[in-house]
Amino acid sequence: MATDALGLYVHIPFCVRKCNYCDFCSFGLSQVDWRERYIDKLCEEILSYREKRIKLDSIFFGGGTPSLLTSAEFEKICSSIKESLVVSGDVEFTVEANPKTLSREKLLVFKASGVNRLSIGLQSTHENELKILGRIHNFEDFLESYQLARECGIENINVDLMYGIPEQTMESFGITLDRILDLSPQHISLYGLILEEGTPFYEMRDRLSLPGEDSECDMYYLATDRLSKRGYTHYEISNYSQPGKECRHNLKYWRSEEYIGVGLAAYSYYDGKRFSNGYDINVYLQNHCTNYHREYSDSDEAFEYVMLRLRLAEGFSLSDYRSRFGTDFLEGRGDLINSFVKAGYMCIKDDKISLTERGFYVSNSILTELI
Ligand code: SF4
Repeated sequence: MATDALGLYVHIPFCVRKCNYCDFCSFGLSQVDWRERYIDKLCEEILSYREKRIKLDSIFFGGGTPSLLTSAEFEKICSSIKESLVVSGDVEFTVEANPKTLSREKLLVFKASGVNRLSIGLQSTHENELKILGRIHNFEDFLESYQLARECGIENINVDLMYGIPEQTMESFGITLDRILDLSPQHISLYGLILEEGTPFYEMRDRLSLPGEDSECDMYYLATDRLSKRGYTHYEISNYSQPGKECRHNLKYWRSEEYIGVGLAAYSYYDGKRFSNGYDINVYLQNHCTNYHREYSDSDEAFEYVMLRLRLAEGFSLSDYRSRFGTDFLEGRGDLINSFVKAGYMCIKDDKISLTERGFYVSNSILTELI
């Protein structure tokens, strides 16, 4: 449901070390000699919103590895937030965490600062797969962090998993799913591995023993089937939740609602404008609050709207599209959409258009044809 409260995204761009597949804006700790200055700039940027009296109903610390923040750093950022923004009493406050970077003391500080949702990056429960990915933890480390979070009163937990990992098999993937389902986290994010240019995996692509397209497709359907049998709703292409536990913050992105993002590489959609801080750490550190406003044209907005909305099982309303963009979405696309409906990839019901479960898996090709 749309609200007048916004989301706040806080980017923490450092990790213990870079994983082999990662193209997110993050740096291994050995490359980071600007940590303190970064936290100061981040707080300055948050404080720059002070006059606007913005109300927040979601806060999301992402990265990178936000759980690498010390308790003092975390509390400093939270004080800036509380000083300059109006945090709603029922805020959803998520922190992304990696196993091996959490302690009881840190989790208690998170909890005392209002954190009520933890998103833990696991990817796989198998040692060999975690090693290939370049993760710093094993399954036991994850279990320890997970139990600790529960003991410290974090009741809403997401676990990130991955399919298409080198050396992963249907059997090993099934075991990963079952082990995680036994813990009953409130939310599971499941991503297919992508070999992104510029990553070590991309360079090694000819030598990686990847499961192959057919197996990846089977893994996707295995997950979808197993998770739905255990009561999880597949509400977004890569996200499954127990009833009522959809991620409020991420829903704002997919529903084209407004949010502000602070820190390196953070994007904002605020006051009808989309802008970002760019990816250059030196520029960010030198030019506090210099947002590189890039306003989108109408066609970009419509493109963004369709791309994001069709990620959600709820899809979008054709009349909402018409009232936002002044054109009929079906015009000029009727035959194409009918062919997708006949093939079982799309569904049109009353005023709503959405992708089906089958459509989710091939969403990239569908969206490319549609837009
Ligand atoms: S922990 Fe996450 S953000 Fe950090 S390098 Fe690995 S995948 Fe990237």
